[in-house]
Amino acid sequence: MLTAMPGAADTSASAPDRPDASITALTQSKKTLEKLLRLGIRTEMDLALHLPLRYEDETHVFPINDAPEGRAVQVEGVIAHAEVLLKPRRQLVCQVEDGSGSLCMRFLNFYGSQVTAYAAGKRVRLFGEIRHGFFGAEMVHPKCRVITRNEPLSDAMTPVYPVTAGLHQQTLRKLISQVLNSPHDPSLLSETVPAGIIQRIRLPGFRESIQMLHHPPPETVAVSLQNRTHPAWQRIKFDELLAQQLSMRLHYRQRRSRKAPRLVRHPALHDAFMAQLPFQPTQAQNRVIAEISHDLDSDHPMQRLLQGDVGSGKTVVAAIAALQAIANGYQTAIMAPTEILAEQHFQKLNAWFAPMQIPVTWLSGSQKKKDRQTALATIESGETMLAIGTHALFQEQVNFHRLGLAVIDEQHRFGVHQRLALRMKGMPASATQAPHQLMMSATPIPRTLSMSYLADLDVSVIDELPQGRSPVVTKLVADSRRDEVMERIRHVCGQGRQVYWVCPLIEESETLQLQTAMETYETLCKTFSGLRVGLVHGRLAAPEKTNIMAQFKHGDIQLLVATTVIEVGVDVPNASLMVIENAERMGLSQLHQLRGRVGRGADASVCILMYQKPLSEIARKRLKIIFEHSDGFEIARQDLRLRGPGEFLGARQSGIPMLRFADLELDGALLTAAQAVADEMLNHYPHQAQQHIRRWLGQKTEYLRV
Ligand code: ADP
Ligand code: MG
Repeated sequence: MLTAMPGAADTSASAPDRPDASITALTQSKKTLEKLLRLGIRTEMDLALHLPLRYEDETHVFPINDAPEGRAVQVEGVIAHAEVLLKPRRQLVCQVEDGSGSLCMRFLNFYGSQVTAYAAGKRVRLFGEIRHGFFGAEMVHPKCRVITRNEPLSDAMTPVYPVTAGLHQQTLRKLISQVLNSPHDPSLLSETVPAGIIQRIRLPGFRESIQMLHHPPPETVAVSLQNRTHPAWQRIKFDELLAQQLSMRLHYRQRRSRKAPRLVRHPALHDAFMAQLPFQPTQAQNRVIAEISHDLDSDHPMQRLLQGDVGSGKTVVAAIAALQAIANGYQTAIMAPTEILAEQHFQKLNAWFAPMQIPVTWLSGSQKKKDRQTALATIESGETMLAIGTHALFQEQVNFHRLGLAVIDEQHRFGVHQRLALRMKGMPASATQAPHQLMMSATPIPRTLSMSYLADLDVSVIDELPQGRSPVVTKLVADSRRDEVMERIRHVCGQGRQVYWVCPLIEESETLQLQTAMETYETLCKTFSGLRVGLVHGRLAAPEKTNIMAQFKHGDIQLLVATTVIEVGVDVPNASLMVIENAERMGLSQLHQLRGRVGRGADASVCILMYQKPLSEIARKRLKIIFEHSDGFEIARQDLRLRGPGEFLGARQSGIPMLRFADLELDGALLTAAQAVADEMLNHYPHQAQQHIRRWLGQKTEYLRV
């Protein structure tokens, strides 16, 4: 049985919404505290890690005539003349002179107090960008301070922090300085990484780096601060990545420390299975089969993610893993996200296992109650060795006799991290026993992303498609050329092939989406009165869906109108044309998944992406990517670049701590280093490892306690 862990998906529970005592001691103002909270600042550590966005160099004064252009600079002079002009609009204008030259300081919005302060004869320091206009040099809305002669210059670059409305730079600077100079907790900035390691990886100390980033001395190279390549930045990013690695690996070790049934490979049964397969596995399939087989042959639970592009042949890999469990007298559960997919798995596995006298049981929401009860009873008695159904079904009352392996297919559909909420029970007696787990995903995850966010799993990749597949030709067609598309459909069906027509995704309204699908269906029925047209959508009852999919599979339906329910896993090799309407509305991975439904047979297949003009910038980019690339990994990489890791992983709601400083694309080397150091620390410095996790993740580690 699978149970959802209470609170596992609830992110708010993991972060208390109150500031620390140490922070409340810093300021009396309730308003300031509220605003700090809005920035996610609750603790002294949060303040210390609230690092500047950029810096202003007020350590240096330029002569007005010699100041560089194109960037903000500091100049100093005496106000020679000041007046409030009323035309062309009300403004405060002051002429400032410094002996080398003069410039005009201009304020379009200003207070009465400024008019009084910036009077002729006053000495001022200005910070801003000098522009050369029609009336000579000028600075519009500079930062301006009235000073006395020989007032000392700032001895550090001035940090500019991310702020929120109503919270001033000054306030933040003061609070942060206070914390850095006299923290409530004296160990606030203490070193968590052992000295030997720090030396070896040649990074500066933590305290030193934090101090440096908040108050860089005048000689600091501005560029390295700005683009975050400065060693101090490197150290912070390393620490952040290290914290992520530590917590993920720790989690991995905890789960791995449980006991699992050891499932040894059974060569005779394996060979018998392979002998009756209608194809030879690819090299990539053989490699991952070996990896999984090795994991199963261990008395600790496998936690492996199998990644493979659509059509790469993950199902047979799962079947062979199941066989290894069955050969040892243990049951396997295979979970799919939809009924359509669960049934398809059932058909396929049944065909492979029936000749071996291994019964496969199907659990379906649409089953008659009696059939369902029989199925449940055979699972509980152990008569059934292999059970297939939707995740939802397994999460209800399914008791296994001896569950050895759980396979979770198309796991990306649930958000990468919902897997954290899945826990298997139904193991023989002992609570420390866990089944082996194999997760499968058709969303290829770029390497650095998988190294970081999936560090609590072992990953196998099928990076090769079975031979004999012809690549899908992708065409971009404006909606206005619908007639040509219709011709094409007629032609394809005339040759005995089949066609998918995917209706537009309407995110705002499922009803509207449904309505559109029905209308499209009716229109297409009229247009193609000689063809057998079918419709499948998410609102259909399960048996009806199954029935329609079966008809399509057998060729009784030639043109299948579908909503995006067919996105996942459906396998009909005779379908060689897919039309996707309003493709501009869909995400990249969805388009890639959909397109993967064709090109499964030996015939050349075509995917027509119809779009409606005008295209937004992002839609244009997406269509260009999907048009130019067919490799799922490359598409995923570009998608990641377009959307950032949070959106890509769907982790926004899942509560996984996202990276704030490190950039997976730029900081790959730091990630590799953090990975090695994490293992070393967990093995040899567990105390420091804990400290480091606590510093960086604090309460956010809750989600890991699955
Ligand atoms: P996915 O990885 O998308 O789940 P499937 O497991 O559904 O892919 O496999 C797609 C199709 O390719 C299925 O019809 C499957 O039987 C077939 N297939 C799998 N492996 C091979 C192979 N090595 N050679 C030929 N066909 C294969
Ligand atoms: Mg699949």
